[in-house]
Order: sequence, then structure tokens, then C-alpha cells
Amino acid sequence: MNLNEYQQAACETAIYPADIGLAYTTLGLAGEAGELANKVKKVYRDDAGILTTEARWKLADELGDVLWYVAAVASEIGIKLGNLPNIHHGTPERWIELQMQGLDNATMLLPYATLQLIQSVGELTETVTTGFEIRDKWLSDPAPDYKPIQDHAAYQLASILWLVTIIVHLIGIVFEDIAYINLNKLQARRANNAIKGEGDHR
Ligand SMILES: [Mg+2]
Repeated sequence: MNLNEYQQAACETAIYPADIGLAYTTLGLAGEAGELANKVKKVYRDDAGILTTEARWKLADELGDVLWYVAAVASEIGIKLGNLPNIHHGTPERWIELQMQGLDNATMLLPYATLQLIQSVGELTETVTTGFEIRDKWLSDPAPDYKPIQDHAAYQLASILWLVTIIVHLIGIVFEDIAYINLNKLQARRANNAIKGEGDHR
């Protein structure tokens, strides 16, 4: 499954009000990034930074949720995940090598990457907010140029996706797994008519 196929499948599980789609999906992305951050925090609170198998799959689940909202925001701004700009030139191994020059030890990598992800989500929300400020003017004549905002958002989504890739690598799972875990969860929820509500097991 490539990124565009994932995005297509993810969109088929989407249920939200179309008129506030961009705000809704950006709020969802912020929420899931926060859930990820909280679970990363607990690895250090509960297990002294050692990743248990249980914690690994909880993180994988949250990364899947983040990925879903990345796909949804990309859809809202009319961009295919596979067409996001290529913002990095290297591999997760190279990223780790570079970060280790400034960090005390490897246990800092997971919180550091997660904080960077939160930062990128914050930058995206800033762009989306700016988009809202001009939204009322879209219908005016002449319409303002929306392209720079779309380009910004695409760049920030690419950053978020890259950091998801890094975190997936750091916790020792395979990127495709988080996509499959996420789609399976949502398809099961849809089958149970339980997309709405709270909690991971519904
Ligand atoms: Mg979640």
C-alpha cells in the first residue's frame, strides 16, 4: 500500500462535517499528536524510557491516528500524500546520526522527535488559522492568492509525515504496519457503527 492508496482508504472511513473540514481535521491532528506525546511521556514516567512491547503498540496506534489526520488534512487542502514536497534528503538513520551530535544520549531521540512533531503541527495550525482569516475573502473578486497557504500547509504536512517516519523507525516498527493497524481499527469501528465516541476500544 503506497501513501496515496492509504489516503484513499483513510478518506473512505472519514465522517465529519464537510463545511468545517479543514478546521475539523486540523483539530483532530493536534489532538492525536497530543495523545502520542502523552504516551511517549509515559514511557519515561512508567518504564524509565525503556520501550515495552505494550508501549510500542500503543505508540504505533497513536502514530496511525496521526497519519489518518495527516491524510485527512492533505485531502482538505487538495494534496495527495504521495505528492507532498520532498523536504528531507536522507534516511531516518542519517537523521539519528545528525541529532546525536547535539543530544546527550539515544534515549532523548524519541522525546526529541515527538517534540519536533508537535512543533510542526503547531506550524500547520498557524497556517490553517491564516487560511481562515482570508477564507471570507475567497469569494470576493478578485480572490486572494490561496496558493502560498496551500504550499505552506503542504510543507508542514511533509514535515509531520517525515517525523512520523522517524518515530516509527525509533520504536522499531514498520511504517506500513501503522497504516494497516489504523485502517483495520477504523474499518472495524465503522462495521460496529462506532466511529463516534471515545476510547481506543470501541
Ligand atoms: Mg488516538
